[in-house]
Formats: sequence, structure tokens, C-alpha cells
Amino acid sequence: MDLRNTPVLVVGAGLMGAGIVQVAAQAGHPVKLFDMREGAAAGAKAKLAATLDGLVAKGKLEAVAASAALARITPITALEQAGDARLVIEAVVEQLDAKRGLFGQLEGIVTAGCVLATNTSSISITAIANGLKHPGRVVGMHFFNPVPLMKLVEVVSGLQTERGVADAIFELSKAWGKTPVHAKSTPGFIVNRIARPYYAETLALLLEQAGQPQVLDACLKAAGFRMGPCELMDLVGHDTNFAVTQSVYEANFYDKRYVPSRLQREMVDGGLFGRKSGQGFYRYGEGAAMPALPVAVHAAPATAHEVTVHGEGAIADLLEAAATKALAGQGWGPARDGESAWTGLRIDGARLVLTDGRTAQQVAAEMGVADVTVFDRPLVVPALPGTALAHATAPTAGDSWRTQAPAWLAALGFAPLPLADAPGLVVARTVAMLINEAADAVLQGVCSPEGADAAMKLGVNYPAGPFEWLARWGPGGAQGVIRILQALDEHYRGERYRVSPWLRRRA
Ligand code: NAD
Repeated sequence: MDLRNTPVLVVGAGLMGAGIVQVAAQAGHPVKLFDMREGAAAGAKAKLAATLDGLVAKGKLEAVAASAALARITPITALEQAGDARLVIEAVVEQLDAKRGLFGQLEGIVTAGCVLATNTSSISITAIANGLKHPGRVVGMHFFNPVPLMKLVEVVSGLQTERGVADAIFELSKAWGKTPVHAKSTPGFIVNRIARPYYAETLALLLEQAGQPQVLDACLKAAGFRMGPCELMDLVGHDTNFAVTQSVYEANFYDKRYVPSRLQREMVDGGLFGRKSGQGFYRYGEGAAMPALPVAVHAAPATAHEVTVHGEGAIADLLEAAATKALAGQGWGPARDGESAWTGLRIDGARLVLTDGRTAQQVAAEMGVADVTVFDRPLVVPALPGTALAHATAPTAGDSWRTQAPAWLAALGFAPLPLADAPGLVVARTVAMLINEAADAVLQGVCSPEGADAAMKLGVNYPAGPFEWLARWGPGGAQGVIRILQALDEHYRGERYRVSPWLRRRA
């Protein structure tokens, strides 16, 4: 089945429908557009004319190509006018009955060979196809907003979707300049499922007052995420973000792993939706400024008589290089213990330990050392100078170590951000959970590891895919990720930090 250049019908002339029309018309398809709101389809075409003109003005599109694309778009006032369509893409309201009803009606209008694609972001493809004469031709074609710019298309197959239909949509997406990824119809598909922990871990940390939103955001941005979770939830809207979390939770039969946050519920109930309402975690609008980051006490110079770098792998190497640089002025360098069971620095009697999921208090007790600080995982190695990094110090630590720990992190080139002694700090626990969720998605055949990586990088702009992080985890590999999850599980109890069997098999 080859859908390239075939007549397309787009139903729904809203935000997504208009974007899909633009992409299809620019790719050379004759496109008809229908919306049940009178005038909406014609209005969308007028807006697209302005969009295409804008692209021409910016030199991004040839004037001839723009007018040809526009000429291919025909707003229609009744579905019956689209009997020649070979592909329907619906982007109507997110309701099962509306989508199922629409496809049922279309079965009486289009030919049996016409593909019925839905842009739903949360409804089961299997359920939409239920009751149709030809359920095998129903497929998910999940675009991301804004459609012309976002490369990802999740090609979602329900239980009855024919492989040939999914493959044809896959090939068509490529022809439209997109990067398609096959997905099985399961709650949240790929991106909306795997991304849940990005928000959930931060909401959990906020709930236990482990750190301020700006601190958690700064740590994750330093790890390469384009936006911190708090900023991102404010941008998406807490109402929308909460609704997605809630729907994934319900669709998984109230699996506690996906339980929404009371904190976010409170914000939604209070109308604190984020940017659109003027306040979420941050304030927006006139006179509003981002709250400042707390400054860690590292005014004292980092001092020591003896420094040993513990551990092997890229992070230990980074620490050794940084410590060597920090000590160069004093005419001596650090020793290295590559056989050590932990990664970090022994600084005289104190320990600066890369988080393995245990709290600083726990590490101090188990090592039998009072002066212990754990620090978060630098995700980008080598880290840029001044990279924000969370740390937490054991309650047993003395006053001198409390000033020396951030001083040493600063001397190593990081911008230390103090956090409460929460297990796995911020980046380590968030990334471990993203890997865990992606592992479960692969275990359940939702997507391939490569598909998950591509989807997260292109659908939500992650700096790397979950399986790329896993491959680079360093000593321990999957076992290192499991150790963090197990420490979280022991600390909190409950289902959220349940380790994926897929990860266990690789440990
Ligand atoms: P929207 O509200 O901007 O547009 C929906 C349009 O569909 C409206 O113009 C409405 O009049 C029309 N409509 C509603 N019911 C109809 C029917 N039965 N027949 C014909 N027209 C009908 O919504 P949107 O944001 O474009 O979302 C559309 C779909 O795309 C939803 O399924 C949504 O979940 C999905 N989606 C949205 C996003 C996003 O970021 N907004 C991203 C991916 C997928």
C-alpha cells in the first residue's frame, strides 16, 4: 500500500488538524478539510495562507511552493464531498464516541481501501476501531504540537490494525519529513507514558519539601533537559498535565506506579494552571521574576591533606581530572582507587559520594563515617564548568565538613545546589525512573529500545534516549540503575519504584 500523493481528508480544523493539513499539502497531497463548526475549515485555510506567506517572507519556502500547497487545500462543508479520500486523518475532540462515530459515518462514504488514521493522544486505537466494518484499517497517527516543526509521529497499532496499514503510515510519515516510530496501543503510547516520571519525581520531591522548584529545574536543565519539570508543567498547563497523568493512572487500573500527585491536584483545584493563568510554580506577567537559586556556602577554600578518587568509569575519570586541576596549584595531586565499591572522593576523613540511591545518612551509617555528602549524577560527562549539581549532607556531619563539601564540589567545577537528604537526589532518580519506564514499555512490546530513544528525543526534546543513558551508565550498567530504584523502593515502600523485569534480565 502506497499512500504518497493520494487524496487526504483531514477532519477537525483546530490546532492539530490545521498543522496536519499544512504538512500534507506541502508534501504534495490534495487535501480536503472538514470541521463541524461552520466556517472553521475555511478559516483554517485563511490562517494557513498567512502561515505559508510568513515562511516565504522568512526565506524558508519558495513562493511557488507556497501557492501550490495552498491551492491543494479544499475546505468542505459535508463529509460526503470527500468520497475520493484514500487516507482520512481525524483530529477532532478527544472523545471515544466522537471518533468512533465519525469513522462509522465515513465507512459509508469512503472506499473500503481508505485508511482511517486518528491523531488521538490517549484513546485506545482498538476501542476506536470496535464496531467498524473494517477495523483493520484503523491506525494511530500521533503527531506532536506544533505539527509542522515536531519530527515525531507515533504510528500506533490496535489489536486489529493490519500490519500493511501501519507500515503504509510509517512510510508516508517518512515521505512527509517526519521520523515515525511504531507503537502498540497502550495507555500513553510511548512518549506520554515514558515521560510520566519526569514530572512525578519532581512532584514527589516537592511534596516532601526536598527542594524549591527553581533548584529542581536547575539540576535537570544542567543534565541537558531543555526545560525543567516545573517550568514545563507551567507551560503545558497543570490542568492538561494532570489530566494526562490521571488518564494513564486510570488506564493502568490504578497501578500505584502512576499515581498522580496531590500537590498538582491542589494546584489544578486552585486554578494555578501555570503560564496561561499567570501562576503555577512560578509567577508570570508584568513584574514577575524567576526566583533566585540559593547560594551554597562555599566561600571557604577547599582544603585537604589527602585526596583519593574512588571508582572506575567516566564519572570517576571526570572527578580525577577535576581534582588534579583543583590541586595543581598546591603542587600535589589525588590518588586513585579504581577497585573501590563506590564512586567519589575521599577527602581526608570525609567522603564525597556519587549517589547510588542511598541517602547521605544511610551512606554515613553504613561506611561508619560521620562526614558524608552525596552528590547527584552528572549526566553530561565531561560536565561544563559551573554545571548545577545537587548534594545532600548526612546529619552526622560536622560544621567544618558542611562548608568543605560544597567548597569541594565548587573546586571540582560544579555549581553546588543544596537539597534535603532525599534518596537518589534529582537527576539520578529521575533518569533511573525514565529508564525503568522505558524498559517496561519494551518488555510489553509497546516499542523497541531504538523507538523509545527516538520518541523521547523527538517528541519531548530529551537530550538522549533512556536506552542511551542506560548504555552510558558506566560501572554496573543496568545493575547501577536497579540499585537506585531499589534504594528508592526501600525508602518509600509502595509500587512506584518497582524494578522492570526487562532491566533485571540485563543486570
Ligand atoms: P482543537 O480543539 O484545537 O480542535 C478540534 C477541532 O475539531 C475543533 O475545530 C472542533 O470544532 C472540531 N470537531 C470536534 N468534534 C468534531 C466532529 N465530530 N466532527 C468534525 N469536527 C469536529 O483540538 P486539538 O488540540 O487540535 O486536538 C485534536 C486532537 O488531536 C485530539 O484528539 C487531541 O487529543 C489530539 N492531539 C492534540 C495535541 C495538542 O497538543 N493539542 C497533540 C497531539 C494530539
